[in-house]
Amino acid sequence: MYLASIQALMQTPLGQVVEKTNQVFWICSADFSKVLYVSPNYEKIWGHSNARLYDNPKAFLEPIHPDDRARVNTSVQQLENKQDFDEEYRIILPDKTVRWIHDRGFPILDTNGNVECLAGIAEDITDRKAALEALRESEDKFQQFANHVDIVFWLCTPDVSEYYYMSPYYEKLWCRTRESLYQEPHSFLKSVHPDDLERITSKAVGDNAFDIDEEYRIIRPNGSIRWVRDRTFPIKDKNGNVYRMVGVAEDITDSKLAQEEISKALQRERELSDAKSHFIATTSHEIRTPLAIIQSSFDILQNYLENLTPEKKQKHFQKIESSVKRIAAIVQDTLLIAEGQAGTLQYEPRDVNVVKLCQEIIAAIYEVNPNVNPIDFTVTGNKPIIKLDPKLLDHILANLLGNAIKYSPQNSTVSFELNLLSDSVSFFVSDKGIGIDINDLPHIFNSFYRASNASNYPGTGLGLAIVKQCVDLHKGSISVESAVDEGTTFIVKIPK
Ligand code: ADP
Repeated sequence: MYLASIQALMQTPLGQVVEKTNQVFWICSADFSKVLYVSPNYEKIWGHSNARLYDNPKAFLEPIHPDDRARVNTSVQQLENKQDFDEEYRIILPDKTVRWIHDRGFPILDTNGNVECLAGIAEDITDRKAALEALRESEDKFQQFANHVDIVFWLCTPDVSEYYYMSPYYEKLWCRTRESLYQEPHSFLKSVHPDDLERITSKAVGDNAFDIDEEYRIIRPNGSIRWVRDRTFPIKDKNGNVYRMVGVAEDITDSKLAQEEISKALQRERELSDAKSHFIATTSHEIRTPLAIIQSSFDILQNYLENLTPEKKQKHFQKIESSVKRIAAIVQDTLLIAEGQAGTLQYEPRDVNVVKLCQEIIAAIYEVNPNVNPIDFTVTGNKPIIKLDPKLLDHILANLLGNAIKYSPQNSTVSFELNLLSDSVSFFVSDKGIGIDINDLPHIFNSFYRASNASNYPGTGLGLAIVKQCVDLHKGSISVESAVDEGTTFIVKIPK
């Protein structure tokens, strides 16, 4: 009876639609023992005749891929228990090609709720599956790219009021979650360095946010600072209106630091070159003055030797001697600096009575010029035998004391304090002289550097550089406290 009404239905326009659509409609008896109807498309998709199914309903299982067959069979049997059937499975066509089928079946119940027959629709979803698979694959590839590339990229509205996508590297670079950005799109600004914030706020979320190229710093939650280059590009519709924007941000900290290093090195190079020119000018000047004295005393002695009193002769000989010493000292300083820079300055420590050594250095200063400022030498602590290099210590103290004398008014006392401690020895050299300007202080240990207020005093700017080299060889430290027109204290500390 059922069969007759199906056949009648197929003669109606609805039946024509059923037969002409791409789907396969099927109807079976409740126990699946008989196929009552299969639309003609079956033959087109399966490549098997409908007649085969009418003969043996179970024949529909045969073309199913062996890996899917058992699953489909179990599922079909559930139909008889009034459960819907909804499966995707592969079929193998007679020419061995494989196609994907989506098959759904439903029990049709009579008025008493008994299964009267089973009906279903099957369709070929091979192309859709392939398209989905291709989409999944390209999404996979995109995800792999997004997960591994060390740049942040995003897609958002032109006014940055909503993000459609933000790549995972944002979390690594900003150390903030992408979720926080999706919820609060401007929250990336919270990390921007205060000095860059105003500029970046006006550009990166302003009217032309979709067309920027900016470099700025971000501060991460652990306090570390990174440099970021942020570029955005507009996406326009066919009328030329911007409806989205894409952005790319990259961590440029390393190249920024490298750039800074290069410009610092260039600056150092420039300073050194300036200092060398300055040195040549100063040294020439410094040498020319004693040379002129030598020349003039020599001329006087040569031309008027007979007429000069013994005292006058002695005065000129002394002038020649001290000028020669002055030139020798300049040459020695230059050589010391050169040795220090070449790493050939020798460090030869031995047990030395440091109190005695200090007294000898003071005595040597007075020997050269008995009229220099008084030096008030005091010692605190005991055990004066210390392992150090006496020659290097001589360079350190002679330079510091020499400067204290040179840069302070005649007769004002220079204080020299030696502090013997259990693990170190410290030397304090203080004067009440011209002092050093705060802007000059960071540079005074550089070779050839002279403070702005030192130009009226003789010097080459090498003494403190030599002092620093000698202190470093002792693995010690040197510091300075100074106030212009009040005085200066140098503190050298050498570990035992
Ligand atoms: P210089 O031969 O010019 O004295 P130094 O290397 O010994 O060179 O010192 C470098 C600079 O540091 C000096 O030119 C001077 O400007 C400053 N300086 C050093 N010691 C003193 C000091 N005791 N008082 C004031 N300025 C000082």
